[in-house]
Amino acid sequence: MAFTVEHECPQCGAPVELEETNRLLRCPYCDVKNFLFTRDYFRFVLPHKEPGKDILYAPYMRFKGIVYLCGETSINHRVLDITRLGATFKKLPMSLGLKPQAIKMKFVTPDVAGSFLTCSMKVDDVLGQVGRHSSIYSPGNFFHRAYIGEALSLIYLPMFVRGSKVFDAVANQPVAELPEGESIFDPAIDDNPGWQITFIPTICPNCGWNLDGERDSVVLTCSNCDTVWEALEGRFVQVFFYTVPGRGENIAYLPFWKIVATVEGLEINSYADFIRVTNQPRVVQKRWEDRNMFFWIPAFKIRPRIFLHLSRQMTIAQEEFDVIEEGPQKGALPRYPASKRSHPESKDYSGQFCHKQKENLSSASSGQL
Ligand SMILES: [Zn+2]
Ligand SMILES: [Zn+2]
Repeated sequence: MAFTVEHECPQCGAPVELEETNRLLRCPYCDVKNFLFTRDYFRFVLPHKEPGKDILYAPYMRFKGIVYLCGETSINHRVLDITRLGATFKKLPMSLGLKPQAIKMKFVTPDVAGSFLTCSMKVDDVLGQVGRHSSIYSPGNFFHRAYIGEALSLIYLPMFVRGSKVFDAVANQPVAELPEGESIFDPAIDDNPGWQITFIPTICPNCGWNLDGERDSVVLTCSNCDTVWEALEGRFVQVFFYTVPGRGENIAYLPFWKIVATVEGLEINSYADFIRVTNQPRVVQKRWEDRNMFFWIPAFKIRPRIFLHLSRQMTIAQEEFDVIEEGPQKGALPRYPASKRSHPESKDYSGQFCHKQKENLSSASSGQL
């Protein structure tokens, strides 16, 4: 279920539509590309048709993505696509239902008139509901939960109060009764918090060329100077990359994140430790004792099962790779479509790599990565 967002091109002001997961905004009129940046998550409002009323905006946490649950013997996943009320006043509708599908959302801007109820919910609270609703694991019956979010945002539903009732200002329908003589909202109201999306023109900071990427890429590439960039603190910062040289011709290069994890509670300080702790069917070589341990995960969008499989295979096989500091041959850099946001913590992989023994997983669950 994809939600649509309506916005104006920051360059020419023309109306542009995009999907909620898009990071690249390309204007069909002036052809200028901008990268959408925020420090945490996007904030949207659903537009209303009640001008002149005192509008109260109720926050809903929105999550669309994959949640991985690490159980005793396996890792399972759930595809999640939900909105959940984040306000403390629980009489409001718990979910936005199909509303955001029916109308186009807009980014919150400082000039949106109205009061914003504080969002008391955190991402983990939303994801906590997965465990509860899962048919595989009862609460507490899994060791760890991690997620890859395609969309994580806050959507505000406009409301107004008339008499003793709270009305949804999109549908103009009563949604809740206010307890008499009480002002429930007062302690939880922010004025418009002044949040604003940042647009970064997609120009290579190194050579001035146009950066490339898919619409939902979080990392962009420059095909002119073969550099890679990600947005941090409102500007592009270079991402250093290495290559595993391929043999043969017509090679496609796929991006992986190579992650260093500090492990407490499990003695994994080298690749040799990792092979021992996770009981891989391999004879530990002496040279592995000095080899640093990395976790490798795909940096491109791929189905959850293949994601786990590739992570496992690449991490176990890492000692077979020669990694060099040069990029692939000129112009062969792949585009980077994947979301880096909230990639699963490595603990998942400790789970995945373990062969058979439950004890290891139990200790993995008490460890901190
Ligand atoms: Zn434009
Ligand atoms: Zn460049």
